[in-house]
Amino acid sequence: MVSTKEYIKHEEGNSEAWVCLCGNTANSDGFYPCDDNGTEMIPAKGWQNLYVCGRCGRIIDQFSLEVLDQNPNFKRLD
Ligand SMILES: [Zn+2]
Repeated sequence: MVSTKEYIKHEEGNSEAWVCLCGNTANSDGFYPCDDNGTEMIPAKGWQNLYVCGRCGRIIDQFSLEVLDQNPNFKRLD
């Protein structure tokens, strides 16, 4: 669990180019749409605009870039 508010960063001038607090970027381990447990999912009805970091499992709000939680054992789709 994350006890204080954290936010991931993005590359200067490019709000799509996320940089996680662990150093992961979209071009290395990537970020994946997920549910609030960090389980990867196809973005669809019910998706809460969350992404999971492919390296550390931080669960990130797509719009605020706030880290809502962390699940290092998050599950990926095959
Ligand atoms: Zn990370």
